Amino acid sequence: MLRFCYGPMDCGKSTLALQIDHNHARQGRRGLLLVRHDRSGEPQISSRIGITRQALEVHAGTDVRKLIREQWIAGRHVDYLIVDEAQFLSPAQVEQLAELADEVQIDVYCFGIATDFQSHLFPGARRLFELADELQPVQVEVLCWCGAPGRFNARVSDGEVLREGDTVVVADTGPGVFESTTSLQPEANSTTLRYQVLCRRHYRLGDLGPAAGKRGQLRLT
Ligand SMILES: [Zn+2]
Repeated sequence: MLRFCYGPMDCGKSTLALQIDHNHARQGRRGLLLVRHDRSGEPQISSRIGITRQALEVHAGTDVRKLIREQWIAGRHVDYLIVDEAQFLSPAQVEQLAELADEVQIDVYCFGIATDFQSHLFPGARRLFELADELQPVQVEVLCWCGAPGRFNARVSDGEVLREGDTVVVADTGPGVFESTTSLQPEANSTTLRYQVLCRRHYRLGDLGPAAGKRGQLRLT
């Protein structure tokens, strides 16, 4: 089985990933934790509520089947795989996971974000939507500032919702704050980006809410 649990940022995906690992491990099953671009910069699955487990880093060119074969060679059986930040997998890596599920009956649990800051599917997430046996939205609801369900990860810089830029910006420096690693402009290195989850309407309008300040909002009714 190949499963994809998806949701916006901060909806508790990594926490759920670690819970599922715990549930399987308690049954005596042997799992392997994989991660692509963990927010801590270390190969580990770390949830924002403070639980952390070591994981293997999947790099851009990693063949996941080979990773599993190496485990077998080392005498370690693998019953299940937990993959965090699965949106960053390449489509080919998602296909490798499907192959592992089909050919050697490994249970694969992928966790990730569906859409990027431009509201388009990440290529890895798209391939998971196409191939997974089960798709499950993570049930912990993240709300927009207006109270509506938040499904869009807005990238914010200087109080503005950004519409253009690289899809992947990594190296988190704290909860919800990301340092840009893009170097398209000389000053981009010092730009502090953050993400804010918004409902579709406020994502579309670029409205970060009254707390965002900066725009001197007038509420006319
Ligand atoms: Zn809203």
